[in-house]
Amino acid sequence: MSDTDATLFTHIINREIPADILYEDDLCIVINDIAPQAPVHMLVIPKQVIPRLVDASIEDQSILGHLMWVAAEVARDVGVDEAFRLVVNNGEGAGQTVFHLHLHVLAGNTASPIFSETDIG
Ligand code: AMP
Repeated sequence: MSDTDATLFTHIINREIPADILYEDDLCIVINDIAPQAPVHMLVIPKQVIPRLVDASIEDQSILGHLMWVAAEVARDVGVDEAFRLVVNNGEGAGQTVFHLHLHVLAGNTASPIFSETDIG
């Protein structure tokens, strides 16, 4: 990937843009969202760039599963494993603004509108 093609999240993964990194392994990174929509708002981001969920191929099944496993791990680590929500915005019409697949992990206040609204981003 040339530098001009790199996504915002690739720059974060490469430590070219600062972020609050909570977890990292060979396949993904977890950061705190810069504009949290809930008391806990983390993003689970694969190192491999898949622009949208619909762009994932059959070969990406294991990374997709890994992202969900990591989401549960970090939810446990920050103490919200009894109540959290996962969101993937797929496409501009669904509110996706960064075209590098990511899972939103939201928790901490079930009275928040985030738990009843679909527009998360
Ligand atoms: P989406 O709208 O689903 O594509 O989600 C993109 C998310 O990335 C939004 O919730 C943004 O607040 C978040 N975001 C954008 N820039 C940064 C950044 N530099 N560090 C952390 N989160 C970011």
